[in-house]
Amino acid sequence: MNNISNINYDKVFCDTVKNLSATPSLLLHVCCAPCATYCLTQLLPYFDITLYYLNDNIQPFDEWEKRLDELKKLADIVNSDNFVVRPRCRLKLTVKNYDASYFDSTAGTLGAMPEGGARCNACIGQRLVLSTDYAKRHSFEYVTTTLTVSPYKNARFINELGAQLAQDNWLYSDFKKRDGYRQSVQLSHKYNIYRQHYCGCNYSLQDSLQGANK
Ligand code: SF4
Repeated sequence: MNNISNINYDKVFCDTVKNLSATPSLLLHVCCAPCATYCLTQLLPYFDITLYYLNDNIQPFDEWEKRLDELKKLADIVNSDNFVVRPRCRLKLTVKNYDASYFDSTAGTLGAMPEGGARCNACIGQRLVLSTDYAKRHSFEYVTTTLTVSPYKNARFINELGAQLAQDNWLYSDFKKRDGYRQSVQLSHKYNIYRQHYCGCNYSLQDSLQGANK
């Protein structure tokens, strides 16, 4: 896609799904179940979706496991037709084994800084590199991520990098548009899905704890 700098990624998403004539396969990188709730309302009517839980940034391991359990719970809700949107195909879930050293030796080396800075770009980049590689090796027709639903994540950065890595297979999105983030909070409450108080890494955990103590 040319002249990518001022693109309304949500509009590109809407135009893409409107023009689909079949039910293409989609690898959806999922950061956590709460963010996935709203994204799935937008994706389930159009795609044959495999959720990809790939989050070496989450610390500690117990938290990684807890978020995975919540994602399994959400997939069960969808597959038993108890979700607000009916799936076109049964949801599948694939998990990358936890490897904290991958985050620690790369994005983690950039140290403490406000969320949204260079460490976060590296962290998001790691997950996009691995997700788009997985999608390519397994011949998915589309690949994208739930990360754009967060108000703290830069949709332009995510979409530019995703498109660079996956090229025509990248599904542009900006799920925070059309009130996506607030709806994800409401859906998490509705389905009793645990919603964490920090993004994932130890830095964000410490930031959250310090905020709580102020
Ligand atoms: S705050 Fe979130 S996006 Fe940023 S480095 Fe930590 S886990 Fe990754």
